[in-house]
Amino acid sequence: DPRLPRISSAIRVIPDFPKPGIMFQDITTLLLDTKAFKDTIDLFVERYRDQNISVVAGVEARGFIFGPPIALAIGAKFVPMRKPNKLPGEVISEEYSLEYGTDKMEMHVGAVQAGDRALVIDDLIATGGTLCAAIKLLERVGAQVVECACVIELPELKGREKLTGKPLFVLVKGA
Ligand code: 5GP
Repeated sequence: DPRLPRISSAIRVIPDFPKPGIMFQDITTLLLDTKAFKDTIDLFVERYRDQNISVVAGVEARGFIFGPPIALAIGAKFVPMRKPNKLPGEVISEEYSLEYGTDKMEMHVGAVQAGDRALVIDDLIATGGTLCAAIKLLERVGAQVVECACVIELPELKGREKLTGKPLFVLVKGA
């Protein structure tokens, strides 16, 4: 697809952020390129519009940028998957491991129902821990996770293998 190279070149790579040795994939420059940003959303919408997706679950924070326009276009609800103590209502939470220590992801009780067909969206998959926590939260309430989707995959980190067999769709690869 000729749209993919343009999306790839609109993503800026910043070395040594947030710490030495990390090549940070910065999607804020993709958001500045009106054509590449629209193409990004269109590619996801084309893939998911006929799949009876009832909920788009976006992972904080950059899943909140890509998720809502996709949800609106395919007629699905949007549900934020948030960092701890941000959501005001009753939540369920799932711990997951980071490089050092653990973190937690939370989802509002009642936002997703048994039988919902879910798409999980984030900007990037690295080790896969974040998406894995989102899958677990959705499955705990009886939703079916149809697929996970990211703009960028860092394939060397093999996060794809952590997704307990759920399909992963990505637009571009980073290193
Ligand atoms: P994982 O749990 O797969 O190891 O890490 C993925 C999470 O970390 C995502 O929520 C993603 O936003 C964030 N992340 C890790 N590295 C990068 C990066 O280089 N660029 C961006 N934009 N996000 C990153």
